[in-house]
Amino acid sequence: MKQKILLVGPCAAESEQQVVDTAAAILPIAAAHPQFTTYYRAGAWKPRTSPTSFQGFGEQAIPWLIKAQTATGLNVVTEVAEPKHLLAAYNAGIRNFWIGARTTANPFLVQSLADTMKELASTSYIQIGLGDIEKGMFFIKNPISPDIDLWEGAIRRLRDAGINNIVAVHRGFSLGERNATAYRNAPCWSVPIELRQHCPDLPILCDPSHIAGRRDLVEEVAREAMLLDMDGLMIEVHPHPEEALSDAAQQLTPEALIRLLDALPKVTSSEPDQELTGLRRQIDEIDDEIWALICRRMEICSEIGRYKAARHLPVLQQNRFESLLKRRRIWARKNGLSTEIVDRIMQAIHEESLGKQL
Ligand code: PEP
Ligand code: MN
Repeated sequence: MKQKILLVGPCAAESEQQVVDTAAAILPIAAAHPQFTTYYRAGAWKPRTSPTSFQGFGEQAIPWLIKAQTATGLNVVTEVAEPKHLLAAYNAGIRNFWIGARTTANPFLVQSLADTMKELASTSYIQIGLGDIEKGMFFIKNPISPDIDLWEGAIRRLRDAGINNIVAVHRGFSLGERNATAYRNAPCWSVPIELRQHCPDLPILCDPSHIAGRRDLVEEVAREAMLLDMDGLMIEVHPHPEEALSDAAQQLTPEALIRLLDALPKVTSSEPDQELTGLRRQIDEIDDEIWALICRRMEICSEIGRYKAARHLPVLQQNRFESLLKRRRIWARKNGLSTEIVDRIMQAIHEESLGKQL
């Protein structure tokens, strides 16, 4: 099985004791799960939506992280959002960083972090002669909105600065009222899947804590991520989650982390056997039929287009589309399909049909 990455620790560094004790609780968990390379996370600077929320202890927390790193040997990771964060953390001895969702969305900030890293690399690395491993990792979260170009753009900025050890982190998307899931952030799995198509060599982790937003839902998201063969997990762990200064609702105790890890499905990447090959063949045949039917539907749409043009009728007849959609939603519910898939497919077919008629 391919080595996976686990990034665990509290949302925020809250005190020296909390940082050091949590790391000590995580160390044996890391040792008991060698299928993961484990990193220890804790945010010193917390980018919070509200200015009245806890903003993190900032630079004051950095020595606590170093203490935890020295005491346990776990590699520490912290969030950096601007060059002064990166410099403070780097100069203290931290080599692994994550860029948060709100920062990924800002090309100026990402570029300034990339430039700072490049400068650091050209001075300290070359002078000290550190190897690639010691250069550490850059974890980059998806931007708040499901905009894959923004995510890839940020990754490109880091790569262009010569940073090679990049890992993407899928933490879900803020969709406001359009979020039809029970989660804090909609997973929109198609986005990390598309990123994997565009960047096949880039490891992509899932952050089920920030997707779920509630500790009782973290495990099911983590499970889905493993079934989708993501490259690892970032999970928030706190010794007393209810008392956490940020993200109290979603953090797990170290004991709950053990239960979650032990319940994860074991995914292997063996060659498909006869049974799977047979099932896939059936899928391919059904797809052939679906596409042949779509073609036939479009031919009829073109005919309708000619009919409407000859009689000066409008191409878009909203009532007709809405009645089709309504009927299909009722049908979907009866047949165990979600109305979301009906809406998405019907919208796509309708758009293509309008195109034909125009
Ligand atoms: C975090 O990891 O604690 C965090 C602030 O995450 P995000 O940027 O995904 O909101
Ligand atoms: Mn958090």
